[in-house]
Amino acid sequence: MKVTEHLAQAKKPIISLEILPPAKGKSIESIFNLLDPFREFSPAFINVTYHRAEQVFKRRQDGSFERVEIRKRPGTVGICAAIMNRYGIDAVPHLICGGFSKEETENALIDLHYLGVNNVLALRGDAAGNEKFFVPHPKGHHYACDLVHQIVKLNKGSYIEDDIIDGVKTDFCIGVAGYPEKHFESPNIDTDLYYLKQKMDGGGSYITTQMFFENKHYYAYEKACREYGIDAPIIPGLKPVTAKRQLTEIPSIFNVDIPVELSRAITAAKSDAACEQIGTEWLLAQCRDLLANGASILHFYTLGKPHVVCNVLKELF
Ligand SMILES: Cc1cc2nc3c(=O)[nH]c(=O)nc-3n(C[C@H](O)[C@H](O)[C@H](O)COP(=O)(O)OP(=O)(O)OC[C@H]3O[C@@H](n4cnc5c(N)ncnc54)[C@H](O)[C@@H]3O)c2cc1C
Repeated sequence: MKVTEHLAQAKKPIISLEILPPAKGKSIESIFNLLDPFREFSPAFINVTYHRAEQVFKRRQDGSFERVEIRKRPGTVGICAAIMNRYGIDAVPHLICGGFSKEETENALIDLHYLGVNNVLALRGDAAGNEKFFVPHPKGHHYACDLVHQIVKLNKGSYIEDDIIDGVKTDFCIGVAGYPEKHFESPNIDTDLYYLKQKMDGGGSYITTQMFFENKHYYAYEKACREYGIDAPIIPGLKPVTAKRQLTEIPSIFNVDIPVELSRAITAAKSDAACEQIGTEWLLAQCRDLLANGASILHFYTLGKPHVVCNVLKELF
């Protein structure tokens, strides 16, 4: 089923999860071990992130350097197929512009279509580790809205090679990303919403938000989107803060604020267990408030401490 169908048909609030492929060399068992405990909460769908290859310099035996491409977390497409096969739960692979030519993207979409995956989250991706700003692949897309256009074209049976006549039409439901605290490169929220609207008008069917730790950001964002004429469902993204190091890691990686009350409580915590308890209670309170205010879905970033999310779900449902 498509994400939009899950949302439209839900009679009570539903949940969805985001997972990362394991680091190269690790087994898919780590994904199953992570997901098995969530079975009892029947997630409607599971997002699987995509990771671009990074360019690194490796020293040759003669002392010179060679530039090699390393993808640390491959396997998104395969993991999606494995999730659907093992759990019968819809998978939502992320597709990114960064590091991919249009042709590679088309081939990934063809693989997904063959596998029966009909959801994708279309993203730009961040700058490569060795670059300050995002640089598109020379034969790829610059912005997520361009990727959305490519997927929409494939849904109409239009392939890159124009000698493919009567090409099979794919049927992808396309999600896009939204930022309640604004995307960090945007000069202001208004400009960010302008480009978000382009993604929606171009073929996006719903928005999954960046994580936020104060619901007021989400409510204000939802209101601003509606005022901007963006009517699509907005899925709130949630993540527990469970360790002191995350107080600096999360803002620097995701460009979001951690509220004073939460950061003070975690800073003052006397043990790792106390940090986890504070983060669990914070997330639980956020979820309860969202549900009380009519949220029909909660989307959890599970990286790091999936059992914390499980504990919150046990309290909620
Ligand atoms: C839910 C979610 C999941 C994610 N999953 C992944 C993942 O799996 N892998 C990964 O690498 N990253 C992922 N990211 C991170 C994401 O790739 C980065 O935040 C990236 O910097 C922006 O991606 P985007 O799709 O929002 O980009 P875009 O929508 O292209 O926007 C990027 C910036 O450009 C601006 N902009 C957009 N269109 C234009 C235009 N036409 N002209 C000028 N400016 C424009 C926007 O306002 C914004 O500031 C995820 C983010 C979220 C919120």
